[in-house]
Amino acid sequence: MFDVGRLHSVSMASLSSKLFAAAQKRIPGGVNSPVRAFRNVGSAPFFIERAEGAKIWDVDGNEYIDYVGSWGPAILGHAPKVVVAAVREAATRGVSFGIPSPLEVEMAELICNWVPSIEKVRMVNSGTEATMSCLRLARGFTGRDKIIKFDGCYHGHVDALLVKSGSGALTHGRPDSAGVPQTFVDLTISLPFNDVDLVRRAFQKNEIAAAILEPIPANAGLYFPCEDFLSILHEECTKHGALLIFDEVMTGFRVARGGAQEIYGIKPDLTALGKVIGGGLPVGAFGGRAEIMDHLSPDGPVYQAGTLSGNPLAMAAGLAQLRELDRIDAWKLLEKLGAQLEKAAREALRKSKVGATFHRVGSMFCLFFASGPIVDLAGAQRSDLKMFAKYFQGCLKRGVYFAPSQFETGFISTAHSSDDIERTGAVVRESLLEL
Ligand SMILES: *Cc1c(COP(=O)(O)O)cnc(C)c1O
Repeated sequence: MFDVGRLHSVSMASLSSKLFAAAQKRIPGGVNSPVRAFRNVGSAPFFIERAEGAKIWDVDGNEYIDYVGSWGPAILGHAPKVVVAAVREAATRGVSFGIPSPLEVEMAELICNWVPSIEKVRMVNSGTEATMSCLRLARGFTGRDKIIKFDGCYHGHVDALLVKSGSGALTHGRPDSAGVPQTFVDLTISLPFNDVDLVRRAFQKNEIAAAILEPIPANAGLYFPCEDFLSILHEECTKHGALLIFDEVMTGFRVARGGAQEIYGIKPDLTALGKVIGGGLPVGAFGGRAEIMDHLSPDGPVYQAGTLSGNPLAMAAGLAQLRELDRIDAWKLLEKLGAQLEKAAREALRKSKVGATFHRVGSMFCLFFASGPIVDLAGAQRSDLKMFAKYFQGCLKRGVYFAPSQFETGFISTAHSSDDIERTGAVVRESLLEL
């Protein structure tokens, strides 16, 4: 059973804190991606020694059950044998060619088979590159400049997408980041998720090249499209000659074999992919209708390229991961594990009487420290962030690592055992009771 006595020590002299001090001298903020700095939860990050299956170990020897999974890619758990073997084998034949290789064709065929809206696909190196390329392609295809996005949806650090709306949803957005020119921001209209009326008005007033969204928003916590939201958005796009872009960098191959578009029965014009598709290597992809994709260079006028795109190690890792998911029917298993975690979390919430909202789809979940319903960014932002930080630290010291921010989603992998989930349930209960 769960051993509450085995608390994790984070002393000042820990190896993690020494490494973080050294990192801060040479890496801005000490990290290569901001949320890793643990600023939102009031502590310093731990440094990883190794990871295997559902577990990670830090350099100070602490063991954690991991629900971050490299922020999404590790759907088979860490260092899955099939992926490691595929990368090893591929590496012996060369780590990068810059010339077409057979693995790229296999990957393209697999993606088109699994995601019917994708007739042609191009590989890139990150989710950011995928969404950025979708926007350029949509603009090149439609000859229009304006983009609709939705508050709280994250699409990587693309200039034009680092925008969320101010209070007047149809007025020009404000940049979320310094360094993004106002002229870019002026081309981006950010609307509240799930607001059909504002979508209709935006299309009436503007010539729109594309609407881009996470069909299941999972970068401001986790919430869901209301009935008809996606289909009405699709209709509006079609009616006005704009492209619908699903950013499935997170949901692709995770919530279902065919992504969120399979669950909701919508065929977007373009889809951005990443994370799971790379098996842990730096990979993204974007694809859609052939008629649109054919506007890409060298066939068409929209330029897009990449020195390492379609890299053989990345293709081998991704193919091995995707085929393994299919072979073991991972989505069924993930649903079962997700349901077990949900049951435990809801019981823990009842016992603790903490007012919180638990959301889950398959292997993705989020515990908002706010009362429901939560259907958009404004709802997510009602969360009690201090309480989240305490809860996060309570779980961490008991050996369970959730993402260090209220506005992230938890991931279960196929390597999580039923025992891992049970132990996690106990940790969640202890940590909630402690609040
Ligand atoms: C992670 C993420 C991205 C960005 O992908 P990177 O590989 O970090 O550039 C884009 N869109 C969504 C929905 C994501 O979750």
